[in-house]
Amino acid sequence: MTISTPCASTIPHAPMSRRAMLAGAAACAVFAAPRIPAAQENAGPHALPPLPYATNALSPHIDAHTMELHHGRHHAGYVRNLNAALADHPQLAQEPLHALLTRLDEAPASLRTALRNNGGGHANHSMFWEIMGPEGGAPEGALRAAIEAEFGDVESLRLALKRAGLRQFGSGWAFVTVDGEGRLGLAARPNQDTPLMEGGRVLFGVDVWEHAYYLYYQNRRGDYLDAWWNTLNWARIAERFEAARAGTLTI
Ligand code: MN
Repeated sequence: MTISTPCASTIPHAPMSRRAMLAGAAACAVFAAPRIPAAQENAGPHALPPLPYATNALSPHIDAHTMELHHGRHHAGYVRNLNAALADHPQLAQEPLHALLTRLDEAPASLRTALRNNGGGHANHSMFWEIMGPEGGAPEGALRAAIEAEFGDVESLRLALKRAGLRQFGSGWAFVTVDGEGRLGLAARPNQDTPLMEGGRVLFGVDVWEHAYYLYYQNRRGDYLDAWWNTLNWARIAERFEAARAGTLTI
């Protein structure tokens, strides 16, 4: 994304209308918020990906404080613990994340729970930041056709995913899955489990752990799921859809 235009337009010697100034200031506020850098202290093969937008970019649907804690503390913790689990396993440490998760059964039994929880957490959250954003949009083309083929229409998909998220007892995720032919499905998993663990692929999904919404929505998971739908970056989801059909989608 480019950050120069809206912020540069607020310099004092650039005359502009009040309306343009307000629009520029609003855009600037979004882009000028502090970004959480990738954790430098992580020793190991896996790294916290930087958020692809500012922590307040999804407001008012998801507030900046929730994003800061969720990305900078929760996701960072999964990465740190995944690296710690792999510290004495140089061969497994070379495996890409999706391969680790697909072949959990091949990992030493003593390592499996740590890989499942922290590797799953790393994969799920990396996907989650990527499929959200301030861009909005709507599903188009082949992606829209795939949604209509499986769910009838986009609103029916929204409601089905919301129901899956509401039904997930305790902590977990609700996912829209995609296979190599571009056929969509719905899945819910507890904790940090993911369809990747059964060799599936995730088109997009939503975190229904309380840490994802409790600060702002308290116990109102349904309100959070309604608001979260507005954060979807449909252009990015379409890219993931094409990657799944090309066999190149990983996490
Ligand atoms: Mn989370």
